Order: sequence, then structure tokens, then C-alpha cells
Amino acid sequence: MVHESNSKALPQLHTFVSGFCEATDVCRRSVLANAFGEGNEFVPEKHCNQMCDVCLKDVTVHVSVNCTTIALYVLDVLIVLKEEAIKLDVTFSQLVDAARGVGTSWKSISTNTSKKGSIESLKGAAKRIPSMKKMEWEALTMAMLLQGFLIEGFVSTAYSFTSYMRVNLNARENLIRGDRVFIMQQEKKEEKKEKNKKKGGKKKKVSASSSSSSSSSLIPKVVASKKSNVGEKRKRKPPVVVIIDSSDEDDFD
Ligand SMILES: [Zn+2]
Repeated sequence: MVHESNSKALPQLHTFVSGFCEATDVCRRSVLANAFGEGNEFVPEKHCNQMCDVCLKDVTVHVSVNCTTIALYVLDVLIVLKEEAIKLDVTFSQLVDAARGVGTSWKSISTNTSKKGSIESLKGAAKRIPSMKKMEWEALTMAMLLQGFLIEGFVSTAYSFTSYMRVNLNARENLIRGDRVFIMQQEKKEEKKEKNKKKGGKKKKVSASSSSSSSSSLIPKVVASKKSNVGEKRKRKPPVVVIIDSSDEDDFD
């Protein structure tokens, strides 16, 4: 169990989550094979044979986006919730909600009239944070956890273990000083032309999700540069600027 004193368990879980759930460019079967100690014998071309969603989908072009300001904002939300005793034990989803300005915890901050410096500056910062979808807030907060800016603390009850979020104060200091930056990988998709050719015209079913012309952009006005080295006949769509609205959609692919 990850909450027990076994210090290897939590890093192992995080490695698996970042590879299997968060990464968009690693064959999912190879991540599973690694998790079960069979990574050395696993050859994606042979053992997956384009059967997992990552191998099947379009080539992913990654763009690195510096999200340090938003990460510091999320950490400040957590600090204020704890220091002002609004909420001492904050779960992952409660933190996501507070950061995106919904839920009872955020209401307690936004309606606080004490004029305290920390609360006032947090309210001001909230107005400068770009509007993002819930899924994007979740991805950002999960990346903060996997990169060590947030730490999980486990609290046990008679029936369960619950994970609560804590601020990694050293990592936060590094962000403030500029010694570290918080980078999110944003993806752009391009069809796997060359790989398909090698398959000798084998018909390949393309999932509905991979036909979307653009993935969701984390930050408004960030446009990924598309690769243009493949001179194919297929009609190319022009780059799309994705403006994030503040709607609370959960569907996302
Ligand atoms: Zn695969």
C-alpha cells in the first residue's frame, strides 16, 4: 500500500500514473509491461502492434508551456485555505475546485472581508489567472503533484485512507526565486503517415477522438507550431487558435 512506510511505493505509483495516465507519447502496453517487470522484453512494434490508443493515434507534437504563475497561484490557494483555517484537510478535487473558483472553500475566500494581505492578494491573483476548463485544472494540479510541487499526506480512518494535499515549501521557494519553472506539456496531433506506410497499407481504424483537428490548449493564445515536413496530398487544416471558455464541460479527449 502506498500510504505505508514503504518509501518506494509512492514514487512507483507516481511513475506509473505519469506514464500510463498522463503521458501522451508512451505506448500504454509498454508502461504496463514495465510496471510488471517485463519492460526489458517489451518491443512496442511487436507486442503492441499499434493496438493501444497512443500507438494508434496521430503523431503528437508537444509544446512546452511555462505555467509557473498558475502553479504558484494553486500553491497560494492551498496555503490560504490552511493558514486561515478555512479548510485544513484539502483533497485533490477540493484544491482543483478552489483554484478554479468554485465550491465552498473558494466561497469562503471570496466572501472573506477581513482585508488580510494574503486573502486580498489571492483574490487579486485569481482575476489574472487565465480561464481554463476543469479538465485542464485537473491536469495542471496532477502535474504539480507528479513534479513534486504538491505532496500527498495520507490520513487513515477505520475504513479508508484519504490523500490530502500539502505544499512542498522548498519547491515553492524555488519557483519564487526562479530556480525552477513549472512546465506543462501541451499536445498537438499530426497523423502518423510514415508508420502507416510501413504497415503495408494495412487498414487502420482511427478513433473518433484522434480526428479532432486540435487538442485543447492549456493557455489561451498559445498556438503550437505544426510540423510541416510531410508533403502529403491530404488537405491540411490551418492552425487553430483555441480560446478557452469558462464553461464547465467534462467531456474532453
Ligand atoms: Zn502501444
